[in-house]
Amino acid sequence: MKFYSTNNKALRTDFKNAVFHSLPADKGLYMPEEIPKLDPLFIKNITQYSLQEIALEIAKLYVGDDIPAAALKDIVADAINFDAPIHFLDSEMGVLELFHGPSYAFKDFGARFMSRIMGYFSQEDDQLLDVLVATSGDTGGAVALGFLGVPGTRVTILYPKGKVSKVQEQQLTTNGQNIRAIEVDGTFDDCQALVKRAFNDAEVNQQLRLTSANSINISRLIPQTFYYFWAYAQLRIQGISEVVFTVPSGNYGNIGAGLLAYKMGLPVKNFVAATNANDTVPRFLTSGKYEPKPSVQTLANAMDVGDPSNWVRIQDLFDHDLPTLQNLIQTYTYNDEETLAGVQEMYDQYKYVACPHTAIAYLAAKAHRAEHPGTYASVLLSTAHPCKFPDAIPAALFKEVQLPAGADNLEHGEKQAVAMSANYDAFKEYLITNT
Ligand SMILES: *Cc1c(COP(=O)(O)O)cnc(C)c1O
Repeated sequence: MKFYSTNNKALRTDFKNAVFHSLPADKGLYMPEEIPKLDPLFIKNITQYSLQEIALEIAKLYVGDDIPAAALKDIVADAINFDAPIHFLDSEMGVLELFHGPSYAFKDFGARFMSRIMGYFSQEDDQLLDVLVATSGDTGGAVALGFLGVPGTRVTILYPKGKVSKVQEQQLTTNGQNIRAIEVDGTFDDCQALVKRAFNDAEVNQQLRLTSANSINISRLIPQTFYYFWAYAQLRIQGISEVVFTVPSGNYGNIGAGLLAYKMGLPVKNFVAATNANDTVPRFLTSGKYEPKPSVQTLANAMDVGDPSNWVRIQDLFDHDLPTLQNLIQTYTYNDEETLAGVQEMYDQYKYVACPHTAIAYLAAKAHRAEHPGTYASVLLSTAHPCKFPDAIPAALFKEVQLPAGADNLEHGEKQAVAMSANYDAFKEYLITNT
C-alpha cells in the first residue's frame, strides 16, 4: 500500500517512509491511497475470530507488501497482547474498555503497534532509531511502555515537572532500559518546543536518526481500527448487529480510526463525538466553519485540544462532504461540572468508576439515545483506567478504584529522570553527548 498527503493527492510514498516521517514535508497527513475493504465474508463470520486474528487480517491489508507475513504476524501478536472487552452497563449500553494495556489507556494500541513496526524497519536498516516525545501525560506513558525493550529503538520523553499525575509519572520514569525521561522545569508547551527545535536542528539530525512517534503517525491510526471490529464481533456474539459508537475526542485519532473502519466495511449506524469545552469540531459540524481556538484546560485533560490535528484526515476520508459528516457524526459537549456529575452517575447507577473522558462519552451516549431511541447497542469507548486521573474523580469514589494488575510494581519502581530547565542548549547537549 502506498500513501499520499492530504495536501497533495498526487504524492506517493511507501509505508516505511510514512511511518518514519509521521508527516509529509507539505505538513499534510498521510492517508492510504485507497481504503481497503475487509472481506465481507470475514465480517459476516467475524464471531469466529479473536482480536489478534482480526488485527492481523486488517494489518495485512495496509502493510502486506512491506513486511513479510510471518514478521507481521509476530508484530501483531506482540503488540496486541491484551484484551478490549465490552462491559455491559445494561442491555442497551456497553463500555468498550481500551485500558487493559501496559499504560492503562487506549493509546497502547497505537503505540505498541507503531513501536514494533519502527523496530522492525530500524533493525532492517541496522541503525538505532531515536524517538523524541513531549507529553502532557498519556501519550508519553503509552510510548514509553510501548517501546520498552524493543530492539533498535531508544525513547527520550520530556514531561512538565509537577504537571502529570502520579501514575503517569511512574509510567514515564521507572522503566530504564531503552527509555529515558527528562523532567522539564516548565510547561507542556516548553517540552514540545524543545522537541520541535531538535527535529529542525541539522547537527542533531546528522548524529541521530530521529523520529517523533507522533500521534498522527499512520502506524498509530491503523491499529486503532482493530478494536472497532472486535467490539462489533463481541456484539454479534450477543445477537446484536446495530451499533452506535460514542468516542471521547480530543485530537480525533480515535474516532478517526472508527470512521476508517466504517469505510473498510464495518457496519456502524452512527458515531458520536463527545467532547469537553474544547468544541472546535462540534462547532464546525453545526456551522460548517472550521474555527480552531486555543485549548482550554479541563478535568478530561487528554482531550484539551483546540485544533485537532486528525480532523483533516476525517475530512479527507469523506471528501470534505459536510452533509455526509453531519449525518454520520453527532456531537455533544460537557463542562467540568457535568463531567464530575457523569462520573458520579455511572457509579450510582452501575457501580462503575470511570475516568473523566469515559464519563463524557457516557453522558453523550445517553443524550444521543434519548434523542434517537432504537434497538441498536450504544458502545462508549473507555479511553483510560480511572486510576490515572485522581484529581478528576471525587475522593470517595476514587477509593473504590481497583488498581490494575501490575500497578503495585510501579510503586516500587525507582524514579529515573534527568532534571532540566526549558533550555534548548542543555537539551541538545544531552542528546549529543548521551549516545
Ligand atoms: C488521547 C486521549 C483521548 C483523546 O483521543 P484522541 O484520539 O486524541 O481524540 C481521550 N481520552 C484519553 C484518556 C486519552 O489519553
